[in-house]
Amino acid sequence: MHTLVRYGYVPFMLLAVNGAALAVIASGVGKVWLLPLLLLAIAVSFAAERVLPYHDDWNRAHDDGPRDTAHAVVNELLTLGGVAALPLMAALIPAADVWPHRWPFALQVLAAVLVADLGITLTHLASHKIPALWRLHAVHHSVERAYGFNGLMKHPLHQTLETVAGVTPLVLLGLPTTVAAALAFTVAVQLLLQHSNVDYRVGPLRALLALNQAHRFHHLKWAGIGDVNFGLFTLIWDHLLRTYSYDPDRRFTSDDLGMAAKPHYPGGYLAQLVEPFRPSGACATAKPAPHPSPARSQAM
Ligand SMILES: [Zn+2]
Repeated sequence: MHTLVRYGYVPFMLLAVNGAALAVIASGVGKVWLLPLLLLAIAVSFAAERVLPYHDDWNRAHDDGPRDTAHAVVNELLTLGGVAALPLMAALIPAADVWPHRWPFALQVLAAVLVADLGITLTHLASHKIPALWRLHAVHHSVERAYGFNGLMKHPLHQTLETVAGVTPLVLLGLPTTVAAALAFTVAVQLLLQHSNVDYRVGPLRALLALNQAHRFHHLKWAGIGDVNFGLFTLIWDHLLRTYSYDPDRRFTSDDLGMAAKPHYPGGYLAQLVEPFRPSGACATAKPAPHPSPARSQAM
């Protein structure tokens, strides 16, 4: 069972679950059927974390369960609203309509994923470099355990900025609503995988796909040390931007995660919504600990 989860979990989520979502959308039976599929993905994510946890302690709630659920529901509803508003946006924004409608549907979705990945990755990087944006993004970095559900734990304004940056180029190209719905679904699955507490393996693909092995380095709590591996779907842009970092020998505990400069960041949902707009939400830095074992970079 361990071996099945270790090597089968990621292909199941990326290929079977995403494939089922694409089939649902392409069949035209109604996007409402994506909801039970998303709930299935979340259930599988939680089950896999129980079978093969990277860290036992990360399966235990840290007073964060209801808050993370609230973040997930609000952010997924925002995504749903964005997809629903796409026809209106398309009507208001003059699009070139050069979208490759004749390509196989899966290929159209893959193209959308790669284009969106660039905008989202650059916005994520900017959120670490620009103090006003970091205030919003700090909510996500306050986590002190990595498990599937905290991928959706973001300030809604931060998510909106990333989504706008990722989707606007696609809208200008004439993005169809069906592809947008598939993209939104794949983002949710990717966030489950990226923050997963499953000790899975993907071999050399760990240097190409933005999965949990590389993403844990992004959550190292010391200023500057965690400014690596910004990608959502892929690490292509991190390789090009020289922000890729990985050390196969590095192990992580809760002591490594969070924000060293903000160890007492508010934990409640509403408190996290307002914290970016309070004086205490300003950018603060903490020097790396004496022996933080920073990741060493590797070329692709
Ligand atoms: Zn970040």
